[in-house]
Amino acid sequence: MPASLAPALFIGHGNPMNALSMNANSLAWLSMLAGQPRPRAILVISAHWLTRGSAITAMRQPETIHDFSGFPDALNTFLYPAPGDPVLAAEIAGLLAPRPTRLDNDWGFDHGTWSVLTHLFPAADIPVLQLSLDVDLSAAKHYELAKNLRPLRESGVLILGSGNVVHNLRQMNWRHPESAHDWATRFNAEVRRHLLAGNHADLFDLTSDDARLAVPTPEHYWPLLYIAAQQLPGETVELFNDRIEYGAIGMLCCRIAQPAKAPA
Ligand code: ZN
Repeated sequence: MPASLAPALFIGHGNPMNALSMNANSLAWLSMLAGQPRPRAILVISAHWLTRGSAITAMRQPETIHDFSGFPDALNTFLYPAPGDPVLAAEIAGLLAPRPTRLDNDWGFDHGTWSVLTHLFPAADIPVLQLSLDVDLSAAKHYELAKNLRPLRESGVLILGSGNVVHNLRQMNWRHPESAHDWATRFNAEVRRHLLAGNHADLFDLTSDDARLAVPTPEHYWPLLYIAAQQLPGETVELFNDRIEYGAIGMLCCRIAQPAKAPA
């Protein structure tokens, strides 16, 4: 293992309004950076960019995208002005070859990216790129593709998956923010168990009754696979913010990193 590897983070982003407040979620996200070096760039795999085939943002100055409706002006006008990195975009496309990756100049930062990064890196002075989720890939194929991103960590690129382990908007219980459906609790516990045991292949099967309710569509779950795929032998997985909101939104986060060095 190289001397220093950037960590890989999965963040349960939940409600876009998290962008605007320092709360239990954003404080937990911040704690994931403790002891970690400043990255030279950030590659985000967000639940909110779905494409046919893969694409990577390759513009110099990505725009902030407001990909939602029904939220206050403060969110609709929110800006996260981090630069892009066209050279790194081309390098990442190279890592994913021979699978083609389109160099994209139309997307930008969706709220899966900026609602989290505004807390982690509020100065917005580190280049940020997004890699899309190819809707035609299976869970196992997403995981295999993600393994090709491992060399980025050696050069100080933080890989960040932004989604939610449990995400069922139809089953949300708006009146009870602290509630959790039984199936959500069970599925979340199962994912937690597989992550801690390093049984990543067991993360691919979403056919159980609990999984069908927790992951009715896979886009919020897939980013977790991109982070699990970064784990090398000897690396630790740490869990953060292991809670469920509104019955059906799992906020679980995890960090893959080298074990902390014992004090000299
Ligand atoms: Zn989302």
